[in-house]
Amino acid sequence: MRIGIVGAGQLGRMMALSGIPLGIEFAMYDTHAGVPGAAVAEIFTGAFDDRRKLARFARAVDVLTFDWENVPVASARAIAAIRPVWPPPRALEVAQDRVAEKRLFRRLGIPVAPFAAVDSAAGLARAIGSLGMPGILKTRRLGYDGKGQVRIRRVRDAAAAYQQLAGQPLVYERFVDFAREVSLIGVRDRHGAVRHYPLAENEHVAGILAVTRAPYSDVRLQRLAERNHRRLMHVLGYVGVLCVEFFVAHGRLVANEMAPRVHNSGHWTIEGAVTSQFENHVRAVAGLPLGDTRALGHAAMVNVIGTRPRARDFLAMPGLHWHDYGKAERPGRKLGHVTLVAASRGQRDRAARRLRRRLIVQR
Ligand code: AMP
Repeated sequence: MRIGIVGAGQLGRMMALSGIPLGIEFAMYDTHAGVPGAAVAEIFTGAFDDRRKLARFARAVDVLTFDWENVPVASARAIAAIRPVWPPPRALEVAQDRVAEKRLFRRLGIPVAPFAAVDSAAGLARAIGSLGMPGILKTRRLGYDGKGQVRIRRVRDAAAAYQQLAGQPLVYERFVDFAREVSLIGVRDRHGAVRHYPLAENEHVAGILAVTRAPYSDVRLQRLAERNHRRLMHVLGYVGVLCVEFFVAHGRLVANEMAPRVHNSGHWTIEGAVTSQFENHVRAVAGLPLGDTRALGHAAMVNVIGTRPRARDFLAMPGLHWHDYGKAERPGRKLGHVTLVAASRGQRDRAARRLRRRLIVQR
């Protein structure tokens, strides 16, 4: 079995690291060869819209998946005509457009923040008039890690916010007054069997995930989140790992967005769950039975962003695991992560606070 991954970043690399022990080989496709996946897989290079090169890549593997959700949908559909592609290209299509995503959530009865598509300054004024403030203006497409979004607190912020993002389709969302952010990761196999991980609590700094702590134990929210997640996977005919991010506001879940792939808020599962999100994604894509998703303790994951500290200064901490993606330093770039699994929530939280102080440079 050879799995082809379109995109060869750290997510593809961690998929391969989890699938190689299962006897699976990996090949990856990216725009250049100096990518994190190069350490563990053969790299095919080409543009993400080069159909000829993508077709050659598809023919070299048995089944295909992604480590990046912004692969052009036309490319995903083209390779799906050659080999099975999981998750289905339709899931990419929905996730690539914040408005399509929110409409699907709403259609499935999954609560979302009030929103309106915006195509002009006048449209933004109308959206603010009908939905109120504060709010966030976001690009509909290609936004990630807090890029492509501007907060609007007062009417006089609107013109500058629009100017900053104009020229592309936008969405205005009412700001959700949330108590915390959580995410649910689940996996569905080719026969429709589903498993969910415990909810994880996420803390963002400047729009980028900084810290995840799991499990976030709340039986009622877990059940609600799983119901929403299950509906999405079912309607999309999903195979593989899907992440849905929620705000917890006044005891309710409000869906923010979904990622049709393994997700940064699930990195804790490598050491903190019986089977990692990466291995379960690989198992689903390869048509293998899914593994147990139970947590093994109390895990904290802290991202290494921008500059790379020395592993040797951290490795003596009990229960700590270091993950270096092998990327060059750049401001705001995810270079690695650290996971710590503790026996109790208290120990975990104390360790997370220490790691956070040492690893997260406030920008
Ligand atoms: P996103 O790119 O949509 O995941 O947004 C990045 C981060 O910005 C989220 O994780 C939240 O911390 C914040 N954010 C985005 N949308 C909203 C919203 N409607 N209300 C409050 N905070 C938001």
